[in-house]
Amino acid sequence: MPTPASSADTPPLTAASHRPRVVVIGAGFGGLAAVRGLRHAPVEVTVVDRTNHHLFQPLVYQVATGLLSPGEIAPALRKILRRQHNTAVLLAEATDVDLTDRHIQVLEADGTTRAIGYDYLVVAAGSHDSYFGHDDWAEHLYPMKTLTEALGLRDQILRAYERATECGDPAGRARWTTFVIVGAGPTGVEIAGQLVALTRELREELHRDDSSPARIILIDALSEVLSTFPPTLRAHAHQRLTAMGVQILLDTRADAVDAAGITVKATDGHTERIDTHTVIWAAGVHASPLAATLAHAAGIDIDHKGRVPVQRNCSLTGHPEVFVIGDMANLHDLPGLSAPAIQEGRYVAKVLHHRTVGKPTPGPFTYRDRGTMATISARDAIADIYGVKLHGRLGKLAWAAVHISFLVGWGNRVGVLARWAFLLGSRTRSERVILTSIHADHAGPAHSPSGPTADR
Ligand SMILES: Cc1cc2nc3c(=O)[nH]c(=O)nc-3n(C[C@H](O)[C@H](O)[C@H](O)COP(=O)(O)OP(=O)(O)OC[C@H]3O[C@@H](n4cnc5c(N)ncnc54)[C@H](O)[C@@H]3O)c2cc1C
Repeated sequence: MPTPASSADTPPLTAASHRPRVVVIGAGFGGLAAVRGLRHAPVEVTVVDRTNHHLFQPLVYQVATGLLSPGEIAPALRKILRRQHNTAVLLAEATDVDLTDRHIQVLEADGTTRAIGYDYLVVAAGSHDSYFGHDDWAEHLYPMKTLTEALGLRDQILRAYERATECGDPAGRARWTTFVIVGAGPTGVEIAGQLVALTRELREELHRDDSSPARIILIDALSEVLSTFPPTLRAHAHQRLTAMGVQILLDTRADAVDAAGITVKATDGHTERIDTHTVIWAAGVHASPLAATLAHAAGIDIDHKGRVPVQRNCSLTGHPEVFVIGDMANLHDLPGLSAPAIQEGRYVAKVLHHRTVGKPTPGPFTYRDRGTMATISARDAIADIYGVKLHGRLGKLAWAAVHISFLVGWGNRVGVLARWAFLLGSRTRSERVILTSIHADHAGPAHSPSGPTADR
């Protein structure tokens, strides 16, 4: 049994053991898949995460728009892994890796640091928001990569409607009910659709005598929405969003962002100022800083997205005992999606299991692309599954089935399904609590991204 690792009083996790010690940094899609894949392996696993939960990022926007509660998409790690007896969970932030001495440095919740030794290391720390080199925008933007950010955005959206209702000045009211989303990939499209639905629901309560609808504006530097989808599905999504009232500005990028609005610039040089208190960021991510730490230690360069290039078996160049997976790894330039992270995690677990029991090493990692999907409204989604293209209700059914099956925990699956069914029937959502002060005009969380930027 590994040493439980919940406080600084516990003995070090590097305690002597005859079984190889596997340390996994990050319990997102990649890390959790690796940990679970090791459940029958003769190893002692320690999974280190700076949060106590596994976050299902594809549904974060539904928390941000009051449809789901945080717990429904973020089960506690200790609960998920409670029956995995070869695994200990440590709530701590990994701050450094010593490849020579084979240990990682962690900062624990009480502020103490310590070293944790490993025989094998799996690094799956994901990525963070990135603002195309404009870190000064961070205080005015609402990203939604973490639960804290999603709840900050939810507060802002709900507060905006309250403020609009109280505002006597039409221009002031319009500023509160204008929402600009930067990035027309799946995340941007999905939150746009949810904002349309939420606006309809809230207007019934808050704007009975207000005939001016909210403006929901989706901007993207590319010339298509959902540029990675097949053309027919892209066209369907574009047409549906427009019909729902979403204003789509393509070939247009964010040029300046401040507390009172955003200036956008089209590729033809035309600039436009949009007055708004809510700019939602769904555009750029950059790999975890641990990628640069590892690359530097291994004597290689990170790529323009901050990812560390890895070998065909996901290992770090010159370090067959270290594996890097998911958003922070560059293997054949796979996209920053959950599927590559999960498949890499499972693959690395298999490699480690085979090594520790003396079985032949599996061949190189191969990615199986099963397709991609995005939801547009309560009854419409697009999906490209193994080349089969679906939209409308069929697409929505496929989207719902896939998302439910990938959620962790039966309780969460049933809970989320029930919420969706309730919303369909009632057109109302219950997660409407404003958590921060009602006096905060702008409660956007501050971020400190670094390095170059990347589209997701
Ligand atoms: C809003 C949003 C919507 C998305 N929608 C989709 C979608 O619909 N479909 C899809 O396929 N993909 C989607 N993605 C992308 C997908 O979520 C990521 O590609 C995937 O999560 C990457 O997995 P990962 O394991 O590399 O990182 P993550 O899942 O991000 O996990 C990283 C983990 O590492 C932890 N961590 C980070 N740094 C440290 C540290 N220093 N010490 C300790 N722990 C650390 C974090 O707390 C986290 O638990 C979406 C992403 C976002 C942000």
